[in-house]
Amino acid sequence: MTRPQLPAPPETGLNTDLATHLPHWEEIYRDLHAHPELAFEEHRTAAVVASELARIGGWDVTRQVGGSGVMGVLRHGEGPVVWLRADMDALPVREETGLSYASVEAGLMHACGHDVHVAALLGACRQLAARPDAWRGTVVAVFQPAEEVGRGAQAMLDDGILDRFPRPEVVLGQHVGPLPAGLVITRPGAIMAAADSVRVTLYGAGAHASAPHLAVDPLVMAAAVVMRLQTLSARLAPLTPSPLLTVGALHSGTVPNVIPHTAELLCSLRTFDERTREDLLTGLRRVVRAEATAQGALQEPEILTYDSFPVTVNDADATERLLAALTAGGVRCEVLPVPLSASEDFGRFAVAAGCPSVMYHFGGADPADFDADAIAALERGELPSGTVMNHSPHYAPSDRHAVAAGARHLLTAAGAWLHRHESAEAPRTA
Ligand SMILES: [Zn+2]
Ligand SMILES: [Zn+2]
Repeated sequence: MTRPQLPAPPETGLNTDLATHLPHWEEIYRDLHAHPELAFEEHRTAAVVASELARIGGWDVTRQVGGSGVMGVLRHGEGPVVWLRADMDALPVREETGLSYASVEAGLMHACGHDVHVAALLGACRQLAARPDAWRGTVVAVFQPAEEVGRGAQAMLDDGILDRFPRPEVVLGQHVGPLPAGLVITRPGAIMAAADSVRVTLYGAGAHASAPHLAVDPLVMAAAVVMRLQTLSARLAPLTPSPLLTVGALHSGTVPNVIPHTAELLCSLRTFDERTREDLLTGLRRVVRAEATAQGALQEPEILTYDSFPVTVNDADATERLLAALTAGGVRCEVLPVPLSASEDFGRFAVAAGCPSVMYHFGGADPADFDADAIAALERGELPSGTVMNHSPHYAPSDRHAVAAGARHLLTAAGAWLHRHESAEAPRTA
């Protein structure tokens, strides 16, 4: 069995002695994993973050930013202001990993790996405080609430973070994924899709199941809408990457012998530019209204858009700089041909600040878990069959590899700005 060639990054500059401290950050990760909290309820997580930053020392810590967010500021002379962002929230998923440190909160799980992001950023914060000789500038650590509902970044911006803290010259963010540790994927331009959730309520007229002629059946209406919506993304958008429109939930009725009064659909749209987004939303409204009319609905359907995420766009120059630093640090980097269809609210910070930003995804899995077939799939740019993705109740990054990779990448990425005039990140030749 061959394994990916992923040499350990050199322990130089900001990464020096990180390995010594990793057991602590892995312990923090396992603790966060066992105690997941939903969007805007990350109070315990925020307390862990604040107490760790206080213990590290040197960091100026502000809590309750945009709700449960935490901001840390570390100044070290003249130089660029770099924001490093980690999201903190978990999901309403019942964990089925069987891990010894699995969630103790019923029905809640860190299924997206935001616990990795928090532990990795804390590890990076310790290195920055402990290695002042290796950098110049100001680092702002942004511990963001409520990414999963797409509102946390905006809540922090609405709380005045651009005025209350040093304004960023670049914003960097990372996301763990089911790739081998040591692999980073990203791309210049659009990296993640815009997303909108849409709730559609259809109104019919209920009746006895034995008398459908007296009813306007919202179930039949809903079924027709679901089928018609399938053609929208295929017929409205000429460009790749393809937009997506998924009906993720359909609720109507309770018993077999009653035709219900209403039906509710929950839809998820993923698009990569504003025009396609508008076209799809307009098309969805048209299809829903026309179908309700066609079936003789007695009341107009209700269509509500919520939990909207903007498209995440990586600045081309900043992405090039980040990739050069990671590659020089021994990290295997791949540039994606098309954006990912997942979404993030990370992009809001840089858009609001008018500065560049880069989001990249990194492997959090043990490289030893990838056999020859899996490596071949990765080399074709595909995920190996049977890959357990983020948001699955079985998703479990490796505690030993994910936190280490996250902290290293973040430090190397930040170093690309903070080290500007030095070459401390390059391997030393002795
Ligand atoms: Zn997620
Ligand atoms: Zn996530």
